[in-house]
Amino acid sequence: MAGMGTTSFPLPAARALRLHGDLILPGEAGYDDARKVWNGAIDKRPAMIAFCADPQDVMRVVEFARSHNALVAVRSGGHNVAGLSVCDGGIVIDLSRMKRVEVDPTRRLVRAEAGLNLGEFDRATQACGLATTMGVNSDTGIAGLTLGGGFGKLGRKFGLTCDNLVAADVVTAEGRLLKVSAAEHPDLFWGLSGGGGNFGIVTAFEYRLHPVGPELLVASALHRYDDAREAMRFYDEFARHAPDEVSADAALVTLPSGDRFFSISACFVGSHRDGERVLSPLARLGSPVEAGLAAVPYLQIQANGDSLFPRGRRYYWKAQFLHEIASPAIDALLDAYARAPNTSSLLVFQHVGGAIARVPISDAAYAHRSASFDCFPIAIWDDPADDEANTAWARELWNAASPYSTGAVYANNLGDEGEGRVRDAYGENYARLIALKNKYDPTNFFRLNQNIRPMP
Ligand SMILES: Cc1cc2nc3c(=O)[nH]c(=O)nc-3n(C[C@H](O)[C@H](O)[C@H](O)COP(=O)(O)OP(=O)(O)OC[C@H]3O[C@@H](n4cnc5c(N)ncnc54)[C@H](O)[C@@H]3O)c2cc1C
Repeated sequence: MAGMGTTSFPLPAARALRLHGDLILPGEAGYDDARKVWNGAIDKRPAMIAFCADPQDVMRVVEFARSHNALVAVRSGGHNVAGLSVCDGGIVIDLSRMKRVEVDPTRRLVRAEAGLNLGEFDRATQACGLATTMGVNSDTGIAGLTLGGGFGKLGRKFGLTCDNLVAADVVTAEGRLLKVSAAEHPDLFWGLSGGGGNFGIVTAFEYRLHPVGPELLVASALHRYDDAREAMRFYDEFARHAPDEVSADAALVTLPSGDRFFSISACFVGSHRDGERVLSPLARLGSPVEAGLAAVPYLQIQANGDSLFPRGRRYYWKAQFLHEIASPAIDALLDAYARAPNTSSLLVFQHVGGAIARVPISDAAYAHRSASFDCFPIAIWDDPADDEANTAWARELWNAASPYSTGAVYANNLGDEGEGRVRDAYGENYARLIALKNKYDPTNFFRLNQNIRPMP
């Protein structure tokens, strides 16, 4: 689109927008905070940041951006690792202040505005003894997470976050507000279930809820690096054959002492009695330095990862799916992880499959249902001088696992890795997604995302 990358807007025109929310321009108080996202390695300077208060604000800013031919970034939780929710010289449409949430415990439904983060969402639904699949970090936005798919502790039992989506309110590239569901604009509803931010700006989501908690049984174990090979083999077998109630995530981690470990944390979404029977082999395995089986509040489980991923540190990751953690992969990963340039960095295995795998691929835009694990190194550091060492290490680890991967990648864990990888993320639904993009966003107005380019 000609003119993309506009670097400034006339102040009177911007002010004439008369948003119910706030507008922040370069040089104004708060601009430097307002342009920050979760990843401290991202440093972009938009020409305008619009903190929208309601769908009308979103529609006004979309209209304004179109009339100025401006580049647009859409931000909710700000967690995209590659910083796609902020831009240089364009407009950030920020929904993080739109946080209304209404739970209907009788119908087991929730309507949630797009600015909620996972912690806020989980607290509202758990107040009624209900929940739906959400990710593992309280600070992540429900919006980006849902639109890319949505993995979490409840996913193997109840499906992806997007599998629990019932309806959404969407502002299109033309600036129209649509109610979208399986009954209204069903093609767009299909695209929102894994096609990311390509088709419009979601201002509110409606999800199906399930009775959960207030406590779930959790098994955890920390194995020495010398024992990690055996523990990883066991973990692979256990996780791949576990019932849907089990969600077993694991990671190679380093303690501040510099000692490395293999850590497993599995929860059971069902009765404590069944959970004890199913999870106890994990807690009894080998000679862990720590192991336990305990009932833990669901809200605490959901916040367990928070201390690992504070806002503002520098992050880089590179993900891929695995059907299994084959023995040669274990050897290669242990070897590569040991070269981590700092003690903060991790190699994560997020457990998928179960109910996720039983949804036909054509039912939603999300395509990679047969994988057992999402596997990704997470480099975490603070000094820009260490950028190269950290990104090189994460890539090295990714390369070590890639001969054993399915070849696919989770769109929500994709950084800025090029068009080929975007195709890998949408898999066999890619052609249908292009047709949908042609229909709803033929000028590629929404392009700062894992972009599906319209094709004539
Ligand atoms: C610490 C951490 C933990 C994570 N854990 C999990 C996890 O457990 N499970 C999981 O599935 N994922 C997880 N993720 C990945 C996460 O799902 C993605 O980063 C997701 O994009 C975050 O959503 P957001 O709203 O915070 O992101 P943002 O950076 O605000 O948005 C990301 C992209 O989503 C689109 N978007 C955002 N808001 C809207 C909207 N309202 N309408 C239309 N498009 C929009 C835009 O294209 C934008 O570029 C995690 C990420 C981090 C950083």
